[in-house]
Amino acid sequence: MIYAANFKTNNTKAYTKEYIDKLSNFLKANNIKDEVFVFPTFCSLDSYEVPKNLTIGAQNAYPAKNGSFTGEIGLEQIDEFGIKTLLIGHSERREIFGETQEFIAKKFNFFKELGFKIIYCIGESKEIRDEGETLEYLWSEFDGIDLEYDNLIVAYEPIWAIGTGVSATKEDIDEVLSALRTKVKAPLLYGGSVKSSNINEVLSVKDCDGVLVGSASWRVESFCDIIKEGVKA
Ligand code: PEP
Repeated sequence: MIYAANFKTNNTKAYTKEYIDKLSNFLKANNIKDEVFVFPTFCSLDSYEVPKNLTIGAQNAYPAKNGSFTGEIGLEQIDEFGIKTLLIGHSERREIFGETQEFIAKKFNFFKELGFKIIYCIGESKEIRDEGETLEYLWSEFDGIDLEYDNLIVAYEPIWAIGTGVSATKEDIDEVLSALRTKVKAPLLYGGSVKSSNINEVLSVKDCDGVLVGSASWRVESFCDIIKEGVKA
């Protein structure tokens, strides 16, 4: 199983260091071999010493080595810390920062050419779901994306379940992931209000290979509890 923590705009550099140390110790002490990712804020990126199954990634990067892209970081800045893993297509990038599918595909292809591991996020709004257009919408979020890419992980994150405390039901997740599985060989994650109390239900979905966790991952104890419950299943 895959467990990924998206810090968004949370946690200081000091706390991120403490978090990564504690998480590393937890994984080693419990002999957990599942794949774990942490996506800290830009200013908390560093060259951390971590066990083999823990990867530190970047939440975003501009598709350029460097240049005049105020407020962004590029390849040169993430390279400095050996970062080779990126989140692309998160609904907050799409909705708040206006990233279009065309731009997201450009970013995907830039980092794909460099062999990055990409956690590619897709997810529909409540309006789209209510209109019964979920799958059409999700397919459109694959425009320009190479689904055969070896280093791809796809995260299905319904927008209506993100940060609301109300996860999609097992049936909702199952319906979407089994449809995605007809086109996507890559591991499939679910994200949207995952916590230790619902991780077992989420991971029991047939095509679910792991989770992308926002708010419940921001405190290290809470993220470790999710992993602890998940590995029991
Ligand atoms: C996310 O935004 O990637 C996410 C899954 O958030 P939350 O767990 O808070 O719903």
